[in-house]
Amino acid sequence: MTKFSDLPLIEPIQRAVRAENYETPTPIQAQAIPHLLAGRDLLGCAQTGTGKTAAFALPILNRLATDRRRAGPQAARVLVLTPTRELATQIGDSFRTYGRHLGQSLAVIFGGVGQQPQVQALTRGVDILVATPGRLLDLIGQGHLRLDRLEVFVLDEADRMLDMGFIHDVRKILRLLPKQRQTLLFSATMPTDIARLADNILTDPVRVEVTPVSSTAERINQSVLFVNTANKRALLSEVLKNSEIRRALVFTRTKHGANRVAKQLGDIQVPADAIHGNKSQTARQRALEDFRSGRIRVLVATDIAARGIDIDGITHVINYDLPNVPESYVHRIGRTARAGTDGIAISFCDAEERAYLRDIEKLIRQQVPVIENHPFVAQGVALAAAPAAAPKSRDGGGERVENGAARSRGRPRRNRRR
Ligand code: AMP
Repeated sequence: MTKFSDLPLIEPIQRAVRAENYETPTPIQAQAIPHLLAGRDLLGCAQTGTGKTAAFALPILNRLATDRRRAGPQAARVLVLTPTRELATQIGDSFRTYGRHLGQSLAVIFGGVGQQPQVQALTRGVDILVATPGRLLDLIGQGHLRLDRLEVFVLDEADRMLDMGFIHDVRKILRLLPKQRQTLLFSATMPTDIARLADNILTDPVRVEVTPVSSTAERINQSVLFVNTANKRALLSEVLKNSEIRRALVFTRTKHGANRVAKQLGDIQVPADAIHGNKSQTARQRALEDFRSGRIRVLVATDIAARGIDIDGITHVINYDLPNVPESYVHRIGRTARAGTDGIAISFCDAEERAYLRDIEKLIRQQVPVIENHPFVAQGVALAAAPAAAPKSRDGGGERVENGAARSRGRPRRNRRR
């Protein structure tokens, strides 16, 4: 596997990446960074959560730092166009983080806020400009910005731009760019309009696709348990009473959540540890080794931290939190049922995660069977799940969830259609 230190990124960038505790590049980073450093155009089929921001930010910073020149007044060297203010802010933050030892100038502009500070930020020109299309065009129209000297153009989340009705604005912006430039286009999906746009604006691009996984391993027995957020912790202890769960990988959405769950398990004498980006390399390796050797029964992880892990014999994957990126669900549950063995995936779903579950089911093109007979069943969440279905009386029975989970192995109970 490629390491960051194998990539020809300059030392101040390597240092910033190390400070983030990134050890190995994600697949899109490993595939894209060398080509981007070589100046190639790129067509990236990837969505948020894959590490795509660093995949473009690191080589861009590298380029700016090794070819220092002034952008010139009211100009930018790099433009990243993204559909929403949140994404613009996140991308801006990433550039700041990875470029903290480089001293490049950065401006982030989006609508819905006063434009004066943005105008001021542009007066002397900036190295990197991250923007949403509408406000960008406003500022260009008012003469506060010119794009004719741009060196790198990144079109982020192109399919969302299309969905949100920004594609005309994007086309207008494209007409203002110089012909000679490096262009990167990222899109989670490739509708015809975007494929055509890509054809028009990219020159001999490298194509990088990070698994748009849409099928789940057949051997994995999946189930979902509706539960109120406050009861997830108790539900996990209940589920773990099942001794068939010999080696479980538990996923949380945040690093903080991973720590909390691991600690709670420790408190009830379930040997567990957490791995995530904030842990030192040594601590992570120790946790992995303990998990591999069976010294701990549960490893709690975030998606990114679990990425490089390849451990046989994971009997259960438990989604303590459902991922908001549906593909992550497929990646997560794929950790079990390795090497021809069966595996079980159990997901907790609270009211807020209903929408995530819907997206997951759309992606895997199947409904995940619901286990209702557990002590913490959240009727509200289940009902929210079934607006069209006839209400059914709840099975209030005191059957323990481990029975349900164990039974679901043979023939999943689908108590309620959603
Ligand atoms: P993105 O897909 O760019 O939104 O990134 C998703 C998350 O992954 C961000 O919180 C990054 O900080 C984190 N991340 C990106 N690259 C890596 C990496 N190589 N190792 C660990 N975490 C990463």
